[in-house]
Amino acid sequence: MSSPWLYAIVMAVDALLYQIRYEIFTSCFLYLEIIVKIECADCEAKYVGETERSLRKWISEHHRDSSPVGHHMGYQKHSFTSNNVSVVHQEATWFKRGVAEAIHITLVDPSLNRDRGRHTLPAIYREVLQSRDPSSHRESRDSAGQ
Ligand SMILES: [Zn+2]
Repeated sequence: MSSPWLYAIVMAVDALLYQIRYEIFTSCFLYLEIIVKIECADCEAKYVGETERSLRKWISEHHRDSSPVGHHMGYQKHSFTSNNVSVVHQEATWFKRGVAEAIHITLVDPSLNRDRGRHTLPAIYREVLQSRDPSSHRESRDSAGQ
């Protein structure tokens, strides 16, 4: 067997295993009305978004090239797995979920988001959230103990 054939078979099996893992992973999550964070497995790119639909449906939409996540994964040849997806908030109320999405986007500052969410936080909230640096809090606590 020549190596191109072997390579093609290995790639086909790899793609099949990826699809099986993806189906198992997504079928295990039935979260609704959530804010989700996706972190690229191959670089620092992140995406934060809200949905009233299930995590499974949301993830399937973000595999499409029309989504910023799908475009990044396809264009950069990067990927994400279940380890890179996290539900960061769950909120049934449409308005509160929009506010929570805007807060998480401000905190994470995800590079893949095309906008800051459907709710616009007042500037003072953005400033307070963006000034929240966990390392500076740790340093001030450490220096206070000395
Ligand atoms: Zn990436």
